[in-house]
Amino acid sequence: MKRIKIGKPICRGFWNPWSVEEIKKTPVIPPKPEARQVCVICLSEIGEGASTTECPYCGAIGHKNCFDEWIVLRGKCPLCRKILTPTST
Ligand SMILES: [Zn+2]
Ligand SMILES: [Zn+2]
Repeated sequence: MKRIKIGKPICRGFWNPWSVEEIKKTPVIPPKPEARQVCVICLSEIGEGASTTECPYCGAIGHKNCFDEWIVLRGKCPLCRKILTPTST
């Protein structure tokens, strides 16, 4: 059985510009901000179809329960600190 040793370059100084170019071009895909919504209060993911409350001033979004509780306690948005009133439902 023949053994092939890998590690030593066959041709010294050989450089393939195309392979380098390909490595450079590898795109870094940024995470989509719309893909998952995170509650600004409990910082956990908001599942699809969950009832949410949104700040009318800055657009901060949170679970309806979290947001309502926060507003009752503090009376303002956790992000922009504008005065908010609890939603009456
Ligand atoms: Zn929450
Ligand atoms: Zn806000």
